Amino acid sequence: MLVVGSITADVTAYSRRLPRPGETVLGYDCSLVLGGKGANQAVAAARAGSPTWLAGCVGRDPFRDIVLSELQAYGVALSQVRTVEGRTGIAHIRVDASGENDIVITPLANASLDTDAVDESIRAVEGEVSLLLLQLEVPVPVSCHAAKAGAAAGLTVVLDPAPAQELPDDVWQHVDIATPNENEASELTGVRVTDVTSAERAASWFLDRGVGHALITLGSAGALSVTATRTRYFPAYQVKPVDTTAAGDAFTGFFAAALAAGLDDGTAIQRGMAAGALATTRTGASPSLPDAAAVETLIRT
Ligand code: ADP
Repeated sequence: MLVVGSITADVTAYSRRLPRPGETVLGYDCSLVLGGKGANQAVAAARAGSPTWLAGCVGRDPFRDIVLSELQAYGVALSQVRTVEGRTGIAHIRVDASGENDIVITPLANASLDTDAVDESIRAVEGEVSLLLLQLEVPVPVSCHAAKAGAAAGLTVVLDPAPAQELPDDVWQHVDIATPNENEASELTGVRVTDVTSAERAASWFLDRGVGHALITLGSAGALSVTATRTRYFPAYQVKPVDTTAAGDAFTGFFAAALAAGLDDGTAIQRGMAAGALATTRTGASPSLPDAAAVETLIRT
C-alpha cells in the first residue's frame, strides 16, 4: 500500500506531575522515537506484512536520520520520503505519573508535502499497490488531492480523518472507507457518538456523502462497520490497557494491510481490532505497535 502522511520525531518527557505555566519540574525519564500518524500507520501496515511505501517529508537535521532509520528497521519503503529544507516535524509530549499527557505538534517539514509530490508517488508505485491510506496530519488540500488522485488511479482509498478537521464535502465521494474514532466521528458529523446507536447515526453522515464504508472505532467498546447493505458491531478484544496511544494507528494499519492482501473486510476488522487492543498494552506510539504473530495469537485465543 501507499501511505501519504506525517512523519515526526516524538520527544517525550515523563515527570511525576505536569508543570504549571512558567514552572520547571524534574522528570524521571525521556524518550525520542518515530511518530506521526502517517509513519505509525505505515509501520503498523509493514509489521502486518504488507509491502508499504510512505510518502512524506522530513527535514535536513539529525532527527531525519533517527526517523528514517526507524522506518527502515520496521520495513517501510522509503523511496517516496522526501528531504526538504528546514526541520523534521516534532511532537513534544509530556506525560505525568498517572498517564495524563499534553502534546504540541509542530508540523515543520510535514507542511512541505505538496500535491505534485503526491502525484509523483502515486505514479511511482503504480502496479505495486492497490490501496492508498490517508490521515489528516499533512495539509488538508494535499490529503484531499491524494484521495481524488488515488481514486482516479483505481486505488482503494482509506481515510482515517484524524485529527478531525473540516474537509470540503466533495472529498468524501473519493473515499472508499473512513475510519474515524468516536471523537473524530462526533466532530465531523455533529452527532455526539457515545454508543453503537449514535455511531450508526454518524455512519449515515459519511455514507450520505459518498463514503462506501464507515468504520467507527469505539475504543474499549470495539467498532461499528456500516455499508449501504450491512451494519455490523464488533466487540473489542479483552486486554489490560496501560497506554491507549496509537491504538487507532495500529487498528488502521492492520485493517488496511489485511484489505490490501485481499482478505474480506470482516477479517480485516478483526485484525485491526486485535492490533489496536495490543497497542494499548504497551506504552508509547510506534514502539507499542504489535507484529503480525501477536495479532494472530490474540485472534485465536
Ligand atoms: P483511537 O486511538 O484513534 O482513539 P480507538 O481508541 O477507538 O482509536 O481504538 C481503535 C481500536 O483499538 C478499537 O476499535 C478497539 O478494537 C481497539 N482498542 C482500543 N482501546 C482498547 C481497549 N482498551 N481494549 C480493547 N481494545 C481496544
